[in-house]
Amino acid sequence: MRLSQMLFVTLKESPAEAVIPSHQLLLRAGYIRRIGSGIYSYLPLMWRVLQKVSQIVREEMNATGAQECLLPQLQPSELWKESGRWDTYTKAEGIMFAFEDRQGREVALGPTHEEVITTVAKESIRSYRQLPQHLYQIQSKFRDEIRPRFGLMRGREFIMKDGYSFHADEESLKKTYADMDVAYRNMFRRCGLDFVAVEADSGAIGGSGSQEFMVLADAGEDEVLYTEDGKYAANVEKATSLPPDAVESPFEKFEKRETPNTPTIASLAEFAKCSPTNIVKNVLYEAVGDNGKLILVLVSIRGDRDVNEVKLQNELSKMASEFGAKTLLSLTVPEAEAMQKWAAQQLPTGYISPDLSDDYLQKSKDIHPKFVRFADETVAEMKNFVTGANEPGYHVFGANWGKEFTLPSRVVNLQKSVAGDRALHDSQQVLKSARGIEVGHIFQLGTKYSAAMEATFTNEQGEELPLVMGCYGVGVSRLAQAAVEQSHDKDGIIWPVAIAPYHAIIVVPNISDSEAMAAAEKLYAEMNQAGIETLLDDRDARAGFKFKDADLIGIPYRIVTGRSLKQGKVEVVQRATKEAQEIAIEDVVATLKGWMENAIAS
Ligand code: ATP
Ligand code: MG
Repeated sequence: MRLSQMLFVTLKESPAEAVIPSHQLLLRAGYIRRIGSGIYSYLPLMWRVLQKVSQIVREEMNATGAQECLLPQLQPSELWKESGRWDTYTKAEGIMFAFEDRQGREVALGPTHEEVITTVAKESIRSYRQLPQHLYQIQSKFRDEIRPRFGLMRGREFIMKDGYSFHADEESLKKTYADMDVAYRNMFRRCGLDFVAVEADSGAIGGSGSQEFMVLADAGEDEVLYTEDGKYAANVEKATSLPPDAVESPFEKFEKRETPNTPTIASLAEFAKCSPTNIVKNVLYEAVGDNGKLILVLVSIRGDRDVNEVKLQNELSKMASEFGAKTLLSLTVPEAEAMQKWAAQQLPTGYISPDLSDDYLQKSKDIHPKFVRFADETVAEMKNFVTGANEPGYHVFGANWGKEFTLPSRVVNLQKSVAGDRALHDSQQVLKSARGIEVGHIFQLGTKYSAAMEATFTNEQGEELPLVMGCYGVGVSRLAQAAVEQSHDKDGIIWPVAIAPYHAIIVVPNISDSEAMAAAEKLYAEMNQAGIETLLDDRDARAGFKFKDADLIGIPYRIVTGRSLKQGKVEVVQRATKEAQEIAIEDVVATLKGWMENAIAS
C-alpha cells in the first residue's frame, strides 16, 4: 500500500479523551477513531491487526478440532428468559442492549452467546455419539458497560472470539478445557504477549475451573496476586492465602467498656491499645434478590482483614432460593439513607456485634426476616476478642465464641487476600501484586444453561441428561490494544511482528529524487511479492516527518532509500531496537525474511 493513496492521518498531540499510552497511540497513529462512548471505528491499519490476531486465534482453535461458525447478534428475549438471565442482564448489571422491535417483540444485542448456542445444541444434539462438540465464532459483541474507557480495552462494541463446547460428562469437558488452556497459551505467545494464566472467579455457578489470561501492564483493571516460584497466580477476586498470625489477646476478662469515637478498627485498636487481630469486625451488607426482596447480611471478620465481595456474592447466590429468589441483583454496603428502607430502629453503626438482633429489621414481606450471618474463617479461632456492644460508643472486651457470642453456622472463606500474605501452597512464599489486562477467559460451565434450557442428550445407557458445557472467550480487540500497552516507547507503537499491520515500510526521503523512487518501487514490488507486507511512504513530505510517522505507527522494519543507494545499499532500521544497518539491495528480502521468521517463531 502506498501512503500517498491511503487514508492515513496521524496526530501530533494525543487527544484529551485518552489517558493510557496504548489508547493515545492508537488514536494518534490513526488506527482507531472514536464514534461515541465506547464505540470505535477500526481504520484500515487497525483492521489488519485485528485480522492477524483473529487468524492466529482461528488457527489455534482449528488445531484443537473446534469448528468456526457465526451466530446471530440479534437475540430474541425468549432465549434469555429460558436461561433465567433476561432480568439480570437487562436490569441488574444492565449490560445488555435490549429493545422492542416494530412488532413489539423484545430483542437484545448479544453480549455473549450461551443462550443461542445452547438452543442450537438442543435442536441438533440427541445422542452421546455426537459428542463432544466445540463451536466458536469471531464477531462484535455489545455490552452497555457502565464505564467504557481506555479505548478498545473496555468498549461497548468490541470483537470477541467465543467458543462453547458440549460434552457427555465432566471428564470430556476437562479434556477440552485442558486443550483450550494450551491453545490459549499458544495464541497469546504467538501474538507476542507477555501473559500469565490465573485462577479466576467462576461466579455462583461454581464448577471446578475457570482461568483467566492476563497481560501484565500497569493500566490493567484487574489485580493479580502471584508467588515468585511460579506456582500460584490468581485474580484477587478469587485468591486465597494464609492471613498474618494473630497477636494473642491481652483481654482475659469479659467486660463492656466505654470506647468513645471508635467506629473504625484503626481508632478502636488505638484506643484499646490492641492489635486489629484482636477485634471481630462486623460488616453489614444489603443484597437485593431478583424478586425484589431485601436481604441483610452480617459478616464477622478479623479486624485486620477485609471482605472479598465477590466471594460473599457467590455464597449468597448459592442461597438465593432460601430467599425465594433465582439470583441476586446487587450487593452493597448500605448508606444511612438506604437503611431507612429496612431498619426498624436506629442501628449502632460502627459498634455492631455479631449477635445484632433481628429486631432491627422491619417486618415486611419484602425484607428477609433474619440477618444472614457469616463468619470468615479468620474469626472462628479467635479468643478473648473485642467487638461491638450494639451501643454507640461501647465495645465488649475479652469475648469468646460459645460463651458471650454464638459463632455463625456459616463459616467460610470470605476474606480478601492482599500482597504480603503467605501462600497456601508454601508459607515461605509471599503473595505479590501486579496489574493485569484480562485478554482471555476459559470456563467449565457444567449444566447451568443446558439444564435451564433443556438441552439434553441420551447417554449410552439410554438415560436423558443435560449436556455438560464449557465456554472460552478471547477479547480480540482488547488483546490488540494490550499488545500496544505492553510494547511501545516514547516515539510510538512497537508491534510484535506477528500482528503488525505491515511488516515493513519503505521511506523515500525525497520523492523528487527519481533514482531513490525507482529503487523504492522495485524493492516495494519484490518485498510484497516475497510475502513481506510492505508500505511505501511516497508522500511529498520531509524525511524527518516520515520517519516520525513510521516510528509512531510501529512497523517493525523501516527501509530508507537514501544516500547509500550510490553503493547499491539501503538503510534498514529495526523499530524495536532502533538499530540501523546498511544492506545491499539484493539482500534485503532474504534478510528481512530471516528476521521475520525468527521474530514470529519466538
Ligand atoms: P471484564 O471482567 O473485563 O468486564 P468479562 O469477564 O465480563 O470482562 P468475558 O465475558 O469473560 O468478559 O468475555 C471474554 C473476553 O472478552 C474477556 O476476557 C475480555 O478480554 C473481553 N472483553 C470483555 N468485555 C470487554 C469490553 N467491554 N471491551 C473489550 N473487551 C472485552
Ligand atoms: Mg471474564
